[in-house]
Amino acid sequence: METPTMESGAAVKRLLIDGKLVEGEQTFPSRNPATGELVGEAPEATRAQAEAAIEAARRAFDTTDWATDVQARIRSLDRLYDALVEHKEELRELTISEVGATRQLTHGAQLDDPLEIVRFYADLLRTFPMREEIGEVESMGQRHLRWIEKEAGGVVSAILPYNYPNQLALAKLAPALAAGCTVVLKGAPDTPLTTLALGELIAEHTDIPPGVVNVLSSSGTEVGELLTTHPDVDIVSFTGSTETGRRIMAAASRTIKRVFLELGGKSAMILLDDADVDATAMFAAFGICVHAGQGCALTSRLLVPRARHDEIAAKVAAAMGKVRYGDPTHPKTYMGPLISEKQRDKVDGMVKRAVEAGATLVTGGEKAEPGFHYAPTLLSNVDPDSEIAQDEVFGPVLAVIPYEDDDDAVRIANSTIYGLSGTVFSRDQERAIALARRIRSGTFSINGGNYFGANAPFGGYKQSGIGREMGVQGLEEFLQIKTFAAPVV
Ligand code: NAD
Repeated sequence: METPTMESGAAVKRLLIDGKLVEGEQTFPSRNPATGELVGEAPEATRAQAEAAIEAARRAFDTTDWATDVQARIRSLDRLYDALVEHKEELRELTISEVGATRQLTHGAQLDDPLEIVRFYADLLRTFPMREEIGEVESMGQRHLRWIEKEAGGVVSAILPYNYPNQLALAKLAPALAAGCTVVLKGAPDTPLTTLALGELIAEHTDIPPGVVNVLSSSGTEVGELLTTHPDVDIVSFTGSTETGRRIMAAASRTIKRVFLELGGKSAMILLDDADVDATAMFAAFGICVHAGQGCALTSRLLVPRARHDEIAAKVAAAMGKVRYGDPTHPKTYMGPLISEKQRDKVDGMVKRAVEAGATLVTGGEKAEPGFHYAPTLLSNVDPDSEIAQDEVFGPVLAVIPYEDDDDAVRIANSTIYGLSGTVFSRDQERAIALARRIRSGTFSINGGNYFGANAPFGGYKQSGIGREMGVQGLEEFLQIKTFAAPVV
């Protein structure tokens, strides 16, 4: 990717509007969260540029054959996959420096795994039935043949959070493009360059037609508000906080857009009384430290039998001591920084308030320099109704909550506004599965089972969201259904 640079050598990335890479009149900085240093500058998209992006997406949808030419879309997705693979190492270095993702994590969920989402949808499109027969009916003395055709849903606004920009961009872009939609993609204010790099790659190394994919960056909310209210947008696909999701749902209601929301979580890890404590303590400690706790589906509450609370808390604390954290560029680093000083202050404030509310700080609760690192933190004796047990922290902070019996564990697990994920550990797998069925969440892991993959639908119950990303269901979100009938002749 040939990107202009500033005198300091930092990158200045460009927007993608109607097939052209364009600079912004103004830019805003993106900082390396591990050092605080400047990574580069992102364009501050103006309202006029955002409108131009939406108009280009509308034009490409209404006046080209993108929405109807399935074979062309398969070729474009194949090419996009190849381009991503060819430029993977450039994306890796940017993802490490801008997002604070560890090198280890870029070999999984932060980069390498998400590329397979593009492969999955290219392959799915080769066989996915766009037509379905629903049988004949008799009406007014005439037989009528009826069938369903699946059509592209229209212009999509795709809005990203900061934490997994590659995964979340591709989980929206690939199925939207497979469905025949056109897209305006907006990166997050804290990690805009990684998303702009995807736009540059599409412009320079794929044959995706002008206007089909547009990529914007902005440090404020005006562009996002336009993307969720503009009458030319048909679908909003949003990933971010529940608070912003509420605002978006309300904003999009005026024009009755289809709104898909992937929001926050407060998932529970439940240790049943027969669980292997040593193995699960490692799982709990290392699990909450993935990407420094900045993951929507991480299990941030550990529910344990009251009688074994102290023993388990001590083992989890010991396991947390083995988490190697710091410089994300180092291949052995397991946990990198939080995204910003603001996020670190938020996490630290919640930990301090938890202690004031009666929780025990077993380990952590400290900032580390340079950059925005925060030590793996364990709080025990946490009240299930307290702020730290109810609200999303988005940091490496695990709350240990004692329960009385299995029913009590289910009640506590279901007691937040969220319903994204969770996990249960028991030596009796059938008992664990039976308990998992009682938890209201969109994904669930039994004894450490890994559900994640391009073909696995992911999404939330309750205020964790609406809809499913990835899998066949992820494609269907971007399709409209038209029912046809014609007399049998
Ligand atoms: P955020 O809600 O602050 O911002 C997300 C995006 O929304 C950003 O691009 C932001 O610019 C934009 N935005 C803000 N206000 C807007 C408005 N009024 N209209 C339109 N767009 C607006 O989220 P964040 O802090 O970047 O990300 C962290 C959150 O994302 C966490 O709550 C996390 O759980 C959630 N998340 C959910 C999933 C999931 O799949 N469920 C995945 C990753 C992250």
